[in-house]
Amino acid sequence: MISEFGEELGNSRFKIVKALSNAFQERGMMPCLTGDIGLKIKIPDLTVKCHFCEDYVDPKMIIEAMNPEDVNERIFFCNACEVIYNNRMRLKKET
Ligand SMILES: [Zn+2]
Repeated sequence: MISEFGEELGNSRFKIVKALSNAFQERGMMPCLTGDIGLKIKIPDLTVKCHFCEDYVDPKMIIEAMNPEDVNERIFFCNACEVIYNNRMRLKKET
């Protein structure tokens, strides 16, 4: 998890985290997530709460993406809930 970004970085912080996460996963390591409001991690097993189904899942199954309700926020959801996210994004674009 990466947190405490300077405010001047704005949304480029998401690109930094994505680049690090890709590099980590290529090496078989844990993915990297933005330490934003809305990220809930259970200690000690480090599972991450899905925004939609509210289950705590392996961080490797978590997708981080833009919140359809607020482009400056991130949401975290499991890959099983990706369909829900895609539907929300589609509805958002139509309105
Ligand atoms: Zn879910």
